[in-house]
Amino acid sequence: MLHEYPDYLDEFECIGGRCTDTCCAGWEFDIDPETSRIYSEIPGEEGEYIRSRLTYAEDGSLCISPGEGGRCPFLNENNLCELILKHGDNILSDACAEYPRYYTDIGNYEAIDMSLSCMELGRLFFTRDGRPTVYRKVDDDIEGEILPEEEEKNLRKRINERDGMIREIYSKSETLFLNDAGFTKSEEDEMLFSLFDDLDYYHYLFGEFAKSFRASLPELQERSDEFFLGRKEDILRWFRYLSEYFVFRYTISDLAAGVPIEATMRFVKRSLRLIYLASCFEWLKKGEFEVDNMIYVAHVYSKEIEHNLKNVSIIRG
Ligand code: SF4
Repeated sequence: MLHEYPDYLDEFECIGGRCTDTCCAGWEFDIDPETSRIYSEIPGEEGEYIRSRLTYAEDGSLCISPGEGGRCPFLNENNLCELILKHGDNILSDACAEYPRYYTDIGNYEAIDMSLSCMELGRLFFTRDGRPTVYRKVDDDIEGEILPEEEEKNLRKRINERDGMIREIYSKSETLFLNDAGFTKSEEDEMLFSLFDDLDYYHYLFGEFAKSFRASLPELQERSDEFFLGRKEDILRWFRYLSEYFVFRYTISDLAAGVPIEATMRFVKRSLRLIYLASCFEWLKKGEFEVDNMIYVAHVYSKEIEHNLKNVSIIRG
């Protein structure tokens, strides 16, 4: 099997209790069948407590039900997972253990990437000197499904197209996607902001932010160039990395999910535009925009939009 993954996959290390975020908060982490079996065999009060904190998501999958304030019920006051403390890493479901990594498998190909919802990854990602490198590794011991000839051809074609886009992101003086997503007023802005009405919000993050963000659109559009010119080099670099992140993350996974490439590209461009405007909004509020602000804005977007399939499909249009 051919595996592709960015270099930051190897560099990343979860900082656990030192993390200022709690990745488990607000999400319903899936429980895979093997983990469900393990939980069903834990005896006594502890087993009963664990099982009482499981629920079924809308799609019918078993998951951990968030506790008070959206926190995972297994987190202690130091933000450490009580399940790991007591039983070790093997007790975790695949979704918990793998976060912020995710996998797209299609035929004999696998893309592994990481989510910017994790701010520790954001720190690695935005503070790096050079652009991310995509590693390719062939593992002869793992054989994926053999795809019909046409699907295999489409996969190869999509990988080539994706690589072409990534080359182009770095080959121009302005970025490929931001020329469309724009540093200046975009005709889509009003329409994009109207989509906020239909989005799901995790209560503790985005709901209130979205209201004032939306109300600031005229000012954001007016001062967008000023924001850009104030930090042109950094903004271009950060948004090139972000462009690559979205292209790498969605071009193959959307092919596997049957999403047309036009919809994928809409999502990439609109995400960049929304992150750009949210960055400008942060700058207006704080009076400065440093790398920590960039990490935070990308984290909020990823958490609120990328980790919610309904929100992704709304932004895709
Ligand atoms: S957000 Fe990232 S660094 Fe923080 S606890 Fe979760 S995986 Fe670890």
